[in-house]
This record gives sequence, structure tokens and C-alpha cells, in this order.
Amino acid sequence: MSKFNKKIHSATNLKIKNLNILVIRKSIKKIYLRVATTTGDIHVTVPKNTPDKYLINLITSKIEWLKKYHEFYSAKSSLKILFQEDQELSFLGNKYYLKIINDQELPRIYTDYQQNIFINKANNFKEENFIKILNQFYRIELNKILVPMVIKWQKIMNLKTNFIGVKKMKTKWGSCNFSKARLWFNSELAKKPLQAIEYVVVHELSHLIEPSHNKRFVAIMNRFLPDWQEGKNKLG
Ligand SMILES: [Zn+2]
Repeated sequence: MSKFNKKIHSATNLKIKNLNILVIRKSIKKIYLRVATTTGDIHVTVPKNTPDKYLINLITSKIEWLKKYHEFYSAKSSLKILFQEDQELSFLGNKYYLKIINDQELPRIYTDYQQNIFINKANNFKEENFIKILNQFYRIELNKILVPMVIKWQKIMNLKTNFIGVKKMKTKWGSCNFSKARLWFNSELAKKPLQAIEYVVVHELSHLIEPSHNKRFVAIMNRFLPDWQEGKNKLG
């Protein structure tokens, strides 16, 4: 996802037909228009000298499409997770249920890896911290999966990474710093099936060989993970 690594020249907001659009100017050649699947936010990344008028015409010509996806993804992301017994949660591509317990001996949050995620009210739990605790759970669980997965794939691909990290990201599943061999992964991946996580891992590792999404990059993906499209589709 190399275009993200280019330095941001400026970031401004544009309002067209009641839609807020974040305009990011970078030293790139093409225009990228996207709706973030995690938030519904609209981003357009453009070469830094693109005239405003050209940009407004382009966005206006795609406004119906943007509106449709913006509405779809913002509705999806605002589905509220409530602190209540049997609240449905996603974990590794499956449906899990929140179980509220009260036991001083047990950890704050944990899972049976079957279908339950337990949250412990004992020891000064504050309900306002629930989402923070849940996100931390996803981050830690994803890290447990990623470490052996990255080790496995870097061996297969004969690569070396200097750092892997997990954090919540708004617009991408992973990122790769080519020169420093650093990979970041979105903690939201913990909600997705293992095959989807594996696709993102191989994708980001492939960027250590080829930074851009060109033919060579696709050839690398095809060679190491022939069914990568299946994993990509499972990201939803
Ligand atoms: Zn990429």
C-alpha cells in the first residue's frame, strides 16, 4: 500500500452536495478516490498540483456512487456495540457473544475461543472504558496471531522484517515501510477470518520486494499465495 507512504503535501476538506471529502495532496501521479470501509469517510488522494476545479468536476461526476457507499459504510460502522449480556461481537470471522462476569480472580477480558468473550466487572471496572478494553483485547489477540504468521511467511518468502505492530487504523488494513522493513496492521483485522489476515500479511510482506501495486507485485502474490483473491474477499 505504497502510495500511503508518500509524504502528505496538504490535507483539506471539501464539501460537495452535502458530502464531506478529505482531499490529500501528495507527490503522486494518479488520483485515488475511496470510501473507507471502516468509517464511511470519503478520501481523495491527488497529485499535489491538481486544480480545484478539475477535482470538483471529477468528484461531482461520481457523486451518486460516493453517496451510496458513504451511506452504506457509515451505517455499518455506527452499529453500536453495547455493554450488555450476549452482545454480538465479531472475532476471527465468527460470531461471539459478550458474557459479563464478576470474579476478582479472573482477568478483565478473555475468550474461550469457542463463542464467548468474557468481560469481568470485578476490580473497579468502569463501563465507559468498555470499548477501549475491547479494542485492546482485539489488538492483543491479533498480535498473538500475527507474530507466528509473519515469521512463517518471511521464512517462505526469504525476507526479514525489523518491526511489526498493531494499532487501530481508519482507512487501511496494513502498511509497510519499505526502507525500514516495518509493518503495521490494523487491530480491526482480529474480527476477520484467518485467511483474510494471512492475505494482508503476505500483501504487506510482498511490499518489501515491490513497493507499488504493479504487475510485478501481483506476480509475487500469485507465486506465494495463489488464492490471495479469496482472502481479500473475506476482508468484507
Ligand atoms: Zn499494498
